[in-house]
Amino acid sequence: MRKDNVELICNIAELAGLFQKSSGLSDFLQTVVSVVAYHMRAAVCSIYLYDDQSRELVLTATQGLNPESIGKVRLKLGEGLTGLALKELRPIREGRGSRNPNFKFIPGIREEQYQAFLAVPILRGLERVGVLVLQDPVENYFDENDTKALQAIAAQLAATIENAKLLITLHQMQERQAAGQAETRQTALPSELGMKFIRGVPASAGIAVGRALPIGMSEDHFVVKPEAGMPSWTLDDFRRALAKTEDQIEQLQLSVEEKLTDVASMIFSAHLLILKDDKFSGAMESLIRQGVPVADAVARVVQEYVHLFGNSNNPRLREKVQDVRDIGRRLLNNLRSGEESQSDYAGRVIVASELMPSDILKLSAQRVEGLALVAGGLTSHVAILARSLQLPMVIVEDRSLLHVDEDTVIAIDGEQGNLYINPTPDVLRNFEELRRTRQVMETHLQNVADETYTRDGQRVHVLCNINMLSEVPAALRLKAEGVGLYRSEFPFIVRNDFPSEEEQYRVYRKLIDGMGDRPVIFRTLDIGGDKMLSYFPIVNESNPFLGLRAIRFSLRHRHIFEQQLRALLRAGHQTKLHIMFPLVASVEDFTEARDIVHACMQSLEQEGIPYNRAPKLGAMIELPSAVEIVEELAAEADFLSIGGNDLVQYMLAVDRTNEAISDLYVAHHPAVLRALHRVAQAAHRHGRPVSFCGEMAADPKMIPFLVGIGIRVLSVEARQIPRVQQIVRSLDAAQAAEKARRILQMGRIRDVARALEGNGG
Ligand code: PEP
Ligand code: MG
Repeated sequence: MRKDNVELICNIAELAGLFQKSSGLSDFLQTVVSVVAYHMRAAVCSIYLYDDQSRELVLTATQGLNPESIGKVRLKLGEGLTGLALKELRPIREGRGSRNPNFKFIPGIREEQYQAFLAVPILRGLERVGVLVLQDPVENYFDENDTKALQAIAAQLAATIENAKLLITLHQMQERQAAGQAETRQTALPSELGMKFIRGVPASAGIAVGRALPIGMSEDHFVVKPEAGMPSWTLDDFRRALAKTEDQIEQLQLSVEEKLTDVASMIFSAHLLILKDDKFSGAMESLIRQGVPVADAVARVVQEYVHLFGNSNNPRLREKVQDVRDIGRRLLNNLRSGEESQSDYAGRVIVASELMPSDILKLSAQRVEGLALVAGGLTSHVAILARSLQLPMVIVEDRSLLHVDEDTVIAIDGEQGNLYINPTPDVLRNFEELRRTRQVMETHLQNVADETYTRDGQRVHVLCNINMLSEVPAALRLKAEGVGLYRSEFPFIVRNDFPSEEEQYRVYRKLIDGMGDRPVIFRTLDIGGDKMLSYFPIVNESNPFLGLRAIRFSLRHRHIFEQQLRALLRAGHQTKLHIMFPLVASVEDFTEARDIVHACMQSLEQEGIPYNRAPKLGAMIELPSAVEIVEELAAEADFLSIGGNDLVQYMLAVDRTNEAISDLYVAHHPAVLRALHRVAQAAHRHGRPVSFCGEMAADPKMIPFLVGIGIRVLSVEARQIPRVQQIVRSLDAAQAAEKARRILQMGRIRDVARALEGNGG
């Protein structure tokens, strides 16, 4: 069997993702060694992890050696060929290991019969993490290419393995703690023993360390707590604090509008209204006049409002609970003469069971460090927004987190989904290191090209998905060839009211101008499903994903649709305007929407307002029904765009926001793959451009298939562009097409999975 190194490296990139799904550390490391052994066609693959304290390498996972030796075999730095590789920080390859004077025979691990030897150190920067070792009975089995491949694998896995190491240290500490407690109850507990680890789902990359601030709808989460021994402030102090709070919020509104012009309009308006409300500050004042201490008066009225809003039937009012708490915190801080920094969320990690998109925006504007969302109110679009704002976020299932004491230190790694409560100094150091390494990696990743070609010269366009204007600079820096999907609903979701035609026009114009002459595909409103407008509730839907969503909403609320289309047509004047409709289920959906576009053009014409006279109109393919009629849709539409996230959800009937069934959300299901193929074929037959804009477009396993069925436009989150470019460059389009043909013959998920991994097909 041939060794397939290139394919292996691609798969290894995916393998790091397995960590999130694996049931435990040993499970993960064991998967690594068996996959590497399989791909390298080696009889043995082992991982030794370096224990910084004992300065020893410990055999932690192996495929091929005696499994009982795991955890028992320990090597000093420099001991044996493995120890030497780590000591000298270089790979060691031997055709016949026993000939090397440094060779150390370890009895009991059954390595006698393996002569060929290859070890590469696993490093983070210059930090020693461990060693990855291959062995085989065939002498001189490994060559220079294998060394390079194994080095690439070690580099890819270093971050994840280091995290695994961190967890192992944690477990050891917990074991020591348990043992210590059993031995003597008198011994004082070292401070590190209060640490707790929670494995969550990564939602938005980045590292955050801060003091916990649990917020929730429950009333026991009062943020306003007057402390004992507070000075006795006067009415004048209160008024000064009130004026200062007002001033701060006005400033905040101004600065956030400057940074996030499209989505932040009036986002703090409710804060200001409440502050100015006579029943709010007036009530505080009259309590103070009656002799109630100032801080108590503030707390009492804030709590009343929290209660009032929290128990309202109106979702718009319930949403204000957090705003009231915000104000209370600020008032108290300003009474304390508080500096600006105390009043916002710098240094805080928010723990919440439910967050609205507008909450995320407000918290981000107030410099929150990160978010831990306890599953329940989870919607994937909240995660999409956190990613757009580059706000680290982890989603956890463990509801006990909601009861974490305020100010407890929490550290989250949004890339791996890890959360630590009371992290030890070691863990914190490690987080710092991780933060630094990721910064370095990000800089490396900036090596992007203007154009991307497969090995055999096929051009693949890599575009980006944009939710907010603030993402445009990153898109340009990472050389997005255009915007393949602008999710136009985000300015609608986080606001308090519908943006006017004029406001929309300004946003769209800015996006077009920002992207220069690169194409921008605007998607019309995709409201409904997990994207509700608090100010326009669609009531009584027991299945919102099957309800009045996307184009259905727009067709039902024609005046809202028309305003958006007019804004788009005006903004697209003298540009190549592309507009597409989400969740098209029938040819009629498309033609009706197109008729409305034409009607808008006519009215603009009559009003003498400049507009785009030849917009390209596209249909998104996100439903099984759209796949069935794709020939007819391709005949009608100017272009097609596949929304893979929804296509998988609707083809497999698996809610994309339901964590509990995420294992059933299988993007490589044969039904999905055949549907994708049909769409690509129909588009080609009708000479229509077709792009792909779901998460799958950034999946290293899926990209070869997408290219293989003839998709040449991929649209991904901006930060994924370098990785996608890299994968496309490593591909041979002709081979990918051949492989896609074979995969399309398969009827079982398992067979497809193996073929995509490179093990079959
Ligand atoms: C999709 O469904 O794949 C898509 C790109 O749109 P969204 O994720 O916004 O539904
Ligand atoms: Mg969609």
